[in-house]
Amino acid sequence: MSSKDQNGSRRDFLKVMGLAGVGGMLAASGGLALAATEPPAPASGAMPQRTLGKTGVKVSSLALGTMWDTPTNQIVLKQALKLGVTYWDTAESYEGGRSEEGIGQFFKKNPQARGQVFLVTKSYDSTRTAQIFDQHLNQSLKRMNTSYIDMWFVHSLTSIDEFNKPHIKAWAEKAKAEGKIKHFGFSTHKNMEDILLAAAKLDWVDAVMMTYNYRIMHNQKMKDAVKACHEAGIGLTAMKTMGGGPVKFDGEGDPALAERFLKQGYSAEQAKLKAVWSDERIASICSQMPNLAILSANAAAAMDKTSLAAEDLRWLKQYAEATRCDYCAGCAGICEEALGQAAPVGELMRAMMYYRSYGDLGRARDLFAQLPTAGLASLSAHDLARAERRCPQGLAIARLLQEAQEHLA
Ligand code: SF4
Repeated sequence: MSSKDQNGSRRDFLKVMGLAGVGGMLAASGGLALAATEPPAPASGAMPQRTLGKTGVKVSSLALGTMWDTPTNQIVLKQALKLGVTYWDTAESYEGGRSEEGIGQFFKKNPQARGQVFLVTKSYDSTRTAQIFDQHLNQSLKRMNTSYIDMWFVHSLTSIDEFNKPHIKAWAEKAKAEGKIKHFGFSTHKNMEDILLAAAKLDWVDAVMMTYNYRIMHNQKMKDAVKACHEAGIGLTAMKTMGGGPVKFDGEGDPALAERFLKQGYSAEQAKLKAVWSDERIASICSQMPNLAILSANAAAAMDKTSLAAEDLRWLKQYAEATRCDYCAGCAGICEEALGQAAPVGELMRAMMYYRSYGDLGRARDLFAQLPTAGLASLSAHDLARAERRCPQGLAIARLLQEAQEHLA
């Protein structure tokens, strides 16, 4: 379906739902701004826990993503613990190492906290050698003032071939035998479905963190992938659960979400989290929570015992369909093949997502700067049109690549 058709679909959807024009009304009245800045209801009750696959470990259903400056925000770590958000996720690369250092500062000051936290860190390096893994793991242990990591992930896989290697399996077994890691797996936000389906056939993957949200949870291939991993006992953590994409917010779609769910007492963001939690196979949602407001709102959603009604889940599914050309589903194998591997479209869309949906121009530009973009100039209109025809989301790839170069280069 073309972007033009999709825009028609979105308007039809909002009309059917009686929400066309709500965006303008809310914006004009300040209603949207009020909804976004109102202090969240204080979290109360107990943080739910779910079992992380064959590890057998009970983890908090909300995980603290720490891709932010933890040394200067120790209060967020303290409050997370208080709220029962005891699954903490970091990576050796986050904030140039400062994320791990801040967690280490916290454990040094609060040594009793280490035993309460399920600590996850990750290693990214394109070579993925045992030497690099050793280097990163030892560095993480030192930075975080701990003798062990609960879950150690090979970060950001784009293909199972990067992971399914004898030396990686042997390295994980050795690190476990030495007591440096307890469990082992990987994270992925690109070509996730193929990677998950392949991982389900390996018997040495304890858990996986992957992009999973109200948009892609309905794709048949993703459904098959989650089922296969779950049946294989692989613990599943969802990330990127807001379903943000590379397309500029147009003031129409999100107010429709806000309108529907505010009436029920929670925000659109909380509804999106609840949609993912409705899948019991997902042990936890890892959410970036750099401040107390987001932590409190997310924890309140987790502790709230009300599930989304079937009608709400259906509505979100329809909304996702009507706005699908705003979202990149990470199936980069499709568009990159159509472009003869001349451009890292998936990563460029991710950079645009940081810019457009997260409003984080700095991170978007950093990511763009790391990407091999020399081939962009050689892409022909014919090639780009072919990639757009193949894109299952109907993204305006040519326009978005142009915008990426204009704003992020
Ligand atoms: S641009 Fe389209 S084909 Fe490429 S990764 Fe995104 S959704 Fe998939």
